[in-house]
Amino acid sequence: MSNGTHYEVLARKYRPQTFSELIGQEHVSRTLQNAIDSGRIAHAFLFSGARGVGKTSTARILAKTLNCERGVSHEPCNICPLCIEITRGSSTDVFEIDGASNTGVDDIRELRDNAKYLPSHSRYKIFIIDEVHMLSTNAFNALLKTLEEPPEHVKFIFATTEPHKLPITILSRCQRFDFKRVPLAKIVARLRFIAEAEMITVSDAALALIARKGDGSMRDALTAFDQVLACCGNSVTDEDVVTLIGAVDRRLLASISASVFCNDTQSVLADVKKVDEVGYHLRQFCQELIEHFRHLLIIRSVQKPEEILDLSQPELDELKRQAGSITAQDIQRRLTLLLKADTEMAFASFPRLVLEMALLKAATLEPVVPILELLDKLKAMETSAVHTPALPWDAGRTAPTAEQHRREPPRAAQQPQQPPPPPPVTTVASKNANSSVPAWERFVAFANERRPAVGSVLEHGSPLKQEAGLMEVGFPTGSYYLSSIQDADSIAEIKALAEEFTGQETVIRIKPIPQTMDDVPLSLAEKKKSDHEQRQEDLKREVAEHPVIKEALRIFGGAITDIREA
Ligand SMILES: [Zn+2]
Repeated sequence: MSNGTHYEVLARKYRPQTFSELIGQEHVSRTLQNAIDSGRIAHAFLFSGARGVGKTSTARILAKTLNCERGVSHEPCNICPLCIEITRGSSTDVFEIDGASNTGVDDIRELRDNAKYLPSHSRYKIFIIDEVHMLSTNAFNALLKTLEEPPEHVKFIFATTEPHKLPITILSRCQRFDFKRVPLAKIVARLRFIAEAEMITVSDAALALIARKGDGSMRDALTAFDQVLACCGNSVTDEDVVTLIGAVDRRLLASISASVFCNDTQSVLADVKKVDEVGYHLRQFCQELIEHFRHLLIIRSVQKPEEILDLSQPELDELKRQAGSITAQDIQRRLTLLLKADTEMAFASFPRLVLEMALLKAATLEPVVPILELLDKLKAMETSAVHTPALPWDAGRTAPTAEQHRREPPRAAQQPQQPPPPPPVTTVASKNANSSVPAWERFVAFANERRPAVGSVLEHGSPLKQEAGLMEVGFPTGSYYLSSIQDADSIAEIKALAEEFTGQETVIRIKPIPQTMDDVPLSLAEKKKSDHEQRQEDLKREVAEHPVIKEALRIFGGAITDIREA
């Protein structure tokens, strides 16, 4: 790869010399070439974007295209003296100025004076100002004068990583091009091209690691490659790359994630030990692991992960293999644990312990069962439960009702000609005789029917005495009910009702019940309330014993809080 005396860094040796060699900025090349074709070439260009993505290279290619001896066309010829001069940086008409070190107004004034004169032997005088945002305010003002009325023979190409720092007056006078980070796959392809040209043996996985180090910058990736080649010569092993550029071995990430999904806690901890032993920064490792799980998640969540993930094809294939049939939900839950661990590791005295705990938890999570599957299961269980005869659910209360329903219609069908049974006679005798319902309850129902206003108050009374010819009803001392029923009219109404109900003369006594009194029979309202509570208790007990509910509680890990009767 080198002749032993002089080593030219890859970024310079393989600097793109034509628009077609420019990698990852096709949108810029196309627009510039279209402008050249149509003859509408701006006076000033602004190239913005991250470092090492090709801004200066593009500026030089554009300069050559504009000044090429063979005429302005799609690409520079790169062989005429003018092109060669620009490539070497020795052209007398193309000026490369570093904005960072020539920030003063004097520098710009000099530039302005220079711009007035015609180019010595080229078509244009071209000023390339790198890191243009570093210029001082005065320098910008001086520059602005020239930009407002540029001589025909002058072109400006500005490059910056921070376009937002430029005055709007400058921005508005430039044709702007935003350079993108170079996709990983394109950097890998370029590295492969260079490796072949330099006769270097290196794996795709190693090239991907090197490319990743560039983080979207072709120049940084090439610098990392220089670094590897300086140590390894023409034969590069994966281990060399891992050690030299301080990258996490992808195989270790794959191994840990596989162990996590197989619930292999032993291997998980063994891998953490390995990472710690090679002296790798544990939090950074955790972050790489997070990125790894993110890759898996995206692969399992979208149709075309390659459009979302910045990965080389072999990396993508490998991750797809690893993702296998793990559900997105299962990956997501582990990702959550790792994200939490990452935050904690920032402040932890024992980062390894935090990572270990998170990974152990991740390795022992129960798999998630999709909710629809669960519901189907429950449905199946319910169906089988209904067919089991001796369940408490069906026994007791509901059974007789069902029985009644079943018995009634046939009877009607068998005896259609029979006259309907006589309507129930609301006589005292019938009411008194034919029910197991206590007499007081029947009386209140009777009162409710005849005089609802009286009945509704009686519901709150306690039947203290019910004898032949005597009815004693108590109400809590000071209660609204007591005061509303104590008057002579109300008592007369109750008396009339009682006499109609019992068929005999009855004395009515309304008594106050002090709070201290014991053994007071419950009023119907109180009874209703306590019956309801009792019923809720019974239901709760019954429901808790039901196998379907038990299974549901077990699966969902829930508790019964409320029961509503359908
Ligand atoms: Zn040329």
